Amino acid sequence: MRAMALERPGAPLNPVERPDPDPGPGELVIEVAACAVCRTDLQLARGDLPPRRLPIVPGHQAVGRVIAVGPGVTGWAVGERAGVAWLGGTDGTCRFCRSGRENLCAEARFTGWDRDGGFATRLVARADFALRLPPAFDDRAAAPLLCGGVIGYRSLKVAGIAPGGRLGLYGFGASALLTLQVARFWGCQVAVATRSPAERARAAALGAQWTGGYDELPPFPLDAAITFAPAGAVVVAALRALDRGGTVAVNAIHLDEMPAFSYDLLWLERSIRSVANFTRADAQEFLDLAATIPIRTESDVFPFEAANEALARLEAGQVKGAAVLVMPSPALSAA
Ligand SMILES: [Zn+2]
Ligand SMILES: [Zn+2]
Repeated sequence: MRAMALERPGAPLNPVERPDPDPGPGELVIEVAACAVCRTDLQLARGDLPPRRLPIVPGHQAVGRVIAVGPGVTGWAVGERAGVAWLGGTDGTCRFCRSGRENLCAEARFTGWDRDGGFATRLVARADFALRLPPAFDDRAAAPLLCGGVIGYRSLKVAGIAPGGRLGLYGFGASALLTLQVARFWGCQVAVATRSPAERARAAALGAQWTGGYDELPPFPLDAAITFAPAGAVVVAALRALDRGGTVAVNAIHLDEMPAFSYDLLWLERSIRSVANFTRADAQEFLDLAATIPIRTESDVFPFEAANEALARLEAGQVKGAAVLVMPSPALSAA
C-alpha cells in the first residue's frame, strides 16, 4: 500500500510504501477511493495541532470498500462501502460513553491523529466506528460529509438553533457550506460573515439571507451562531451579533488566542460553547438528513499524491468547496 505520511510537523507529507495491512480483531481493512481534506489535517501538518504520534498518515474523511474483515467483526462484509471519520474508537465504558457523549471520551482515538488515516490507498479502521453511507452520494461527494458535514451538524445542535430560527455562520469553508444547507432545510434565516467576496456569493446562492464581513452586524439579531474561522476575534464578532439568550458554537479544534471582551457582550445569558468531535449517532443522523435534503457537495479533486498541494491550496483559501484526494483505482495500482 501507499500513503502520504507526516514525519515532522512543518515538513511536507512524504510518499511512503508500506506492507499491505491485515485486520486485527474487530477491524476492517478498507481500500480507499476518496478522502477529503479537513482544516484539522492542515493544522496537524503545520504543527498548530500537536501530533499524537509520528509518523502519522492524516485524513479522516475516507470512503472506500471493505477488502478484509478481522476476527469478531459483525455487520460488515467484504465489498461493502464504508466511511471512516474522525472518531476512530472509544473505550465504550466511561461515564461519557455511557451517557451518549462518546465525543468526550478521554480514551477516544482519532483517525489521522492517533490512527493512520485516509491519505493512503488502504486504511485499517475499527468496524464498530465505520459508517454506512447513503447510496445517493458517490465516493467523492460522500467524503466531505464525513467531517465538515457531521461536525457542522453537531455545531447546529450545540448552538441550539430551532427550526425557523436566526443563525449566523462565521467563516464559509467546506463545513459551513454543508451546514447552511441543513439550516435552510430547517427554514432558518441565515447570515454568513466571511472576508471572501467569492464565499459571500456562494453563500447567497445557497440561500443565505445576508452576507457581509466579520466586522459588520447582520440586519437581524442571531439566536445562534457557529464560528468556523480558527480565530478568537471571530468568536467575539459572532457574540456581538447574538440576541439575548443566544449561543456561539465554536467549531474549531485549535483557535488562536481569545481576545479580551466586555462582559456586556456575554450578559443576558448569552453563551460560548466549543464543539468537540462528534458521536456516531450524530454522524448517522447527519448522513440520513444529507440524503433527504439532498445536500449538494462541491469538491476540488486532487490525485492522492498531490496531498501537499491540496493542503497548500486549503491554507491559501483557494479551495472552492472541499478538497478531495482521489486514489488510483486498484486495477491501475496493481498494474
Ligand atoms: Zn475534520
Ligand atoms: Zn469513553
